[in-house]
Amino acid sequence: MTQQDIFAIARERMVREQIEARGIKDPRVLAAMRKVPRHLFVDEALWPQAYNDYPLPIGEGQTISQPYIVALMTAALELKGDEKVLEIGTGSGYQTAILAELAKSVFTIERVNDLMLRAKKILDRLGYFNVAYKVGDGTLGWPEMAPFQGIIVTAAAPDIPLPYLEQLDVGGRIVIPVGDRSAQVLYKVTKLPNGELKKENLGGCRFVPLIGKYGWPE
Ligand code: SAM
Repeated sequence: MTQQDIFAIARERMVREQIEARGIKDPRVLAAMRKVPRHLFVDEALWPQAYNDYPLPIGEGQTISQPYIVALMTAALELKGDEKVLEIGTGSGYQTAILAELAKSVFTIERVNDLMLRAKKILDRLGYFNVAYKVGDGTLGWPEMAPFQGIIVTAAAPDIPLPYLEQLDVGGRIVIPVGDRSAQVLYKVTKLPNGELKKENLGGCRFVPLIGKYGWPE
């Protein structure tokens, strides 16, 4: 059995035991989670843990999110394949790869240059060319590229940054953890055709802080 076979088996178990078993049913999300080689987004020393049910360090005091949280947030975007998605907090690039599998294009912003460089290198190597990258304060969004049909924020905000509400298309969804620096609630916010916002609570979570103008101070 090759190392690739062993990782494929680990991915299959991850999807069945951590994701499907907790109620994620979207077949496109499950297929993407079965396909993307998550171990390549962490240090080689962590490969044996890459498919385990917890986040892992990626350097710079940051983390790659737990597989279930990646699946939950992605499923909440309800992607069909023709969307433009804004991602805040590229981190390892793993969530970016999942989004690139499921949407037409992904615009991803990371504030730490070294993380962005590492993520881009692996995403390029895996052939994800429907991704645009920006280093900077993601709390400002990416106004030149708006509107977005999906906005996913993988760091914890004190409140929903105003630019996201402005840059979200009608019918689009924002998935974002909101709370204090130590614990948050994951929200799904949908912009309804009449312009009103529908806010759903997806449960408790813990993310690293979103640092920036509309986030936490450094
Ligand atoms: N989705 C990532 C993955 O799959 O590896 C995990 C992201 S990690 C939990 C959160 C990331 O958000 C960190 O890399 C951090 O540097 C980044 N971040 C924090 N504040 C930011 C901001 N204002 N703009 C862009 N990125 C930010």
